[in-house]
Amino acid sequence: MRSRTAILRSTAFLQHDTGDHPERASRMIAIDCELERRQLLGSRPTVACTPATNDIILQVHSSGMLARLESVAAAGGGWLDSDTVVRPESLDVARMASGAAVNAIDAMIGGQIDRAFVIARPPGHHATGATSMGFCLLNTAAIAATHAIACGTERVVILDWDVHHGNGTQDIFYGRRDVMYCSLHRSPFYPGTGASNEIGLGEGAGFTVNLPLPAGTGDVGFLDAFRSTAIPAIEQFGPQLLIVSAGYDAHVDDPIGGMDVTEGGFRELMAAAVNLADRHSQGRLLVVLEGGYRESVLARCVADAIEILDRAATNDSGPVS
Ligand SMILES: [Zn+2]
Repeated sequence: MRSRTAILRSTAFLQHDTGDHPERASRMIAIDCELERRQLLGSRPTVACTPATNDIILQVHSSGMLARLESVAAAGGGWLDSDTVVRPESLDVARMASGAAVNAIDAMIGGQIDRAFVIARPPGHHATGATSMGFCLLNTAAIAATHAIACGTERVVILDWDVHHGNGTQDIFYGRRDVMYCSLHRSPFYPGTGASNEIGLGEGAGFTVNLPLPAGTGDVGFLDAFRSTAIPAIEQFGPQLLIVSAGYDAHVDDPIGGMDVTEGGFRELMAAAVNLADRHSQGRLLVVLEGGYRESVLARCVADAIEILDRAATNDSGPVS
């Protein structure tokens, strides 16, 4: 059976040249090689990667932030902080990552696909509305969620299992009730946010769900927190679209994360996400790559995720391309 899952990838994502940095272009090459080795690239709908327009980006980020990125890139690049580098091509690459996610949302809403994995870089979840930081320039998942809301989707969940708290995504939706942000992350750890009492503000109160976990948490602790707290919160919210900020830096072999999650644990997380999307969101599930810095592990985890997405039930309720 032909898959209803799109894989969005592009050689453009190699152009953000970070040099000797954990978040580097070879992450994309490792994933591509594994997808090819497992013959996962054929027999599926194609969705193009195109750059997000300023109009769409400015729904999430300030004009000052975008102007700063443009000026640093135009000046030949520079470091925004000790972790975050901009090269002349970097803003165009980040625009392409966001645009890919936006195109995937459009294809879902149009009924051409049910699920998509955007295999893009740089990652996005640390970028706030006003500040790029933590390897992240534009917040891809937040831009996708905001676009989905603008297209008439009433409730979106962003589920984030990167080992770092997605302070940027939290910040962008902290006062809103139409986008729930739910994060499992190591704490204390970079960037220092994500305590369980950070639950949202004003009408957004109750729509941010943080599950901080101690260093060394493995599959059992991660999956317990996910099943006991994240799933009930998401089910009560009833999302019409599920977006996963999928980082793989909580893997036991990751050089940065300091956690003990295995590939089997990540497979269970993805299977649970597919199940949530099937029950609440007509199967609509957008997966956006965040961190993951042991390239061999990252490649296997992404390929595993795509195999799980491909096995998900086919949703025939919408028009077929
Ligand atoms: Zn991370």
